[in-house]
Amino acid sequence: MTLSGVARVAFVGSRRIFASHLPSMQSYTPAFSRQGIVCQMSVGMKSVTDRLRDSGLLRTQGLIGGKWIDAYDGKTLEVHNPATGEVIANVSCMGGKETKDAISSAFDAFNSWSKLTAAERSKGLRKWYDLLMAHKEELGQLITLEQGKPLKEAVGEVDYGAKFIEFYAEEAKRVYGDIIPATLPDRRIFVLKQPVGVAGAITPWNFPLAMITRKVGPALACGCTVVLKPSEFTPLSALAAAELALQAGIPPGVVNVVMGNAPDIGDALLTSPQVRKITFTGSTAVGKKLMAGAAGTVKKVSLELGGNAPCIVFDDADLNVAVNGALAAKFRNSGQTCVCANRVLVQEGIYEKFADAFSKAVKNLKVGDGFGEGVVQGPLINKAALEKVETFVEDAVSKGAKVLLGGRRHSLGMTFYEPTVLSNVKSEMLVSREEVFGPVAPLLCFKTEEEAIHMANDTNAGLAAYIFTNNLQRTWRVSEALEYGLVGVNEGLISTEVAPFGGVKQSGLGREGSKYGMDEFLEIKYVCLGDMNRK
Ligand code: NAP
Repeated sequence: MTLSGVARVAFVGSRRIFASHLPSMQSYTPAFSRQGIVCQMSVGMKSVTDRLRDSGLLRTQGLIGGKWIDAYDGKTLEVHNPATGEVIANVSCMGGKETKDAISSAFDAFNSWSKLTAAERSKGLRKWYDLLMAHKEELGQLITLEQGKPLKEAVGEVDYGAKFIEFYAEEAKRVYGDIIPATLPDRRIFVLKQPVGVAGAITPWNFPLAMITRKVGPALACGCTVVLKPSEFTPLSALAAAELALQAGIPPGVVNVVMGNAPDIGDALLTSPQVRKITFTGSTAVGKKLMAGAAGTVKKVSLELGGNAPCIVFDDADLNVAVNGALAAKFRNSGQTCVCANRVLVQEGIYEKFADAFSKAVKNLKVGDGFGEGVVQGPLINKAALEKVETFVEDAVSKGAKVLLGGRRHSLGMTFYEPTVLSNVKSEMLVSREEVFGPVAPLLCFKTEEEAIHMANDTNAGLAAYIFTNNLQRTWRVSEALEYGLVGVNEGLISTEVAPFGGVKQSGLGREGSKYGMDEFLEIKYVCLGDMNRK
């Protein structure tokens, strides 16, 4: 990595700080991946990026009003491959000024986009879906490059992400209003649903494509226009998706993308009266800030925030189903999803058997660069994520947890961490209280159903929960008692575009996916038609 040009960044915590914000270049600390090592682009990565560039999908500028644009001050920021530390690209590092222009272009485009017929908007979305699918392999490679997840999983994300566009292309045609029986004989009461306006969409790095389509799909279907801010760690997938939206004929200004200085971009979105909606996926801490910031202009807000998912295995569960389900729920994306099982609660009668079978299954998970054959566990996104996992494991061990498997950095180096199973974990340990966001499965033992429900609900989070049982009555009892927005019964992978996704308590507000996802981008208008009897 070179320090030349404007791409001078350092990691402070998990965040990149732009060199111009640092007191002097002496204070520059090479980022985690570099640890004093000058990175060259490997032949393998070069051939992937060359192919992506040839297909026009390796975009590095922001998109404002249909034009690809540099940051106004020319600043860029580096995007790294977390598996190798190599710089994949330098992208425009934008801020408040560019965001204001993106808002203006979205505001102008709203006029015409919202007035198209639903069928016309639907056609544009459908074409976008077709293009996403036609470029599934390249988009998958881009996700693996910038996010690190194994290629097969990345291609799966493209499938999953594209399906939101397909689903909302169909749903665009079903924004029905209502007619309410009037209370007076000369009145008629109508209910219309109309697009809310310009939406500011802020997305995280763990699903660089799907978190975008899950927001932009319903927004566009309803007639809204969007200013999108992807994570600085993974902007390339968002830019590629935006390029395909343009190719699909979605008019300029309907989808705008800015990335770079998150607080400045966030402030511009929050303070603009032209932005009528904030849709955010990310950490609870940032979600709270955005919610407070949106109060100034009383925007509609939806938040998809962090979780602390319990995965409850009852004595009567099928052991194989429980092991496979817990494995999928825990280790997808190396444990870096909001719905990842964060605590595995196992009933005392099956505890030892489960711990043994689960550890054996975890031992078989192959760790490596996401492009490697048979790899199912990639690196963590950055050094801060790695250190967080280490801290959580150390805390647990210091308080009496036992390491059944893993428990340390992987010999591959970088940000790879060994898939880990901890037993004898207690509710007060960090690993039970907060999202570990890494490949660590803490096993906690419980005696009764009541105790399991109490332990599961003893958190401020309320996104996903999983239960494994063969008892039908228990299935319903426990599903109803869990204070969570999603419950998987004998199933560890439950996300789909056709079902409502979202949390309760401090895991969020609103729902994404399904017909309910449309409501987040619609206003309800009541029209009263008076004096029907006038001649
Ligand atoms: P994050 O730090 O909250 O970042 C999410 C997004 O917010 C990024 O685009 C980030 O930009 C931006 N951001 C940060 N500070 C901001 C500010 N002051 N103003 C405006 N935007 C700001 O979360 P993350 O680490 O990327 O993602 C992991 C978290 O997301 C986990 O807690 C996970 O559970 C949650 N998540 C939830 C769901 C769900 O559906 N409920 C789905 C996926 C992930 P930069 O990256 O450019 O700084």
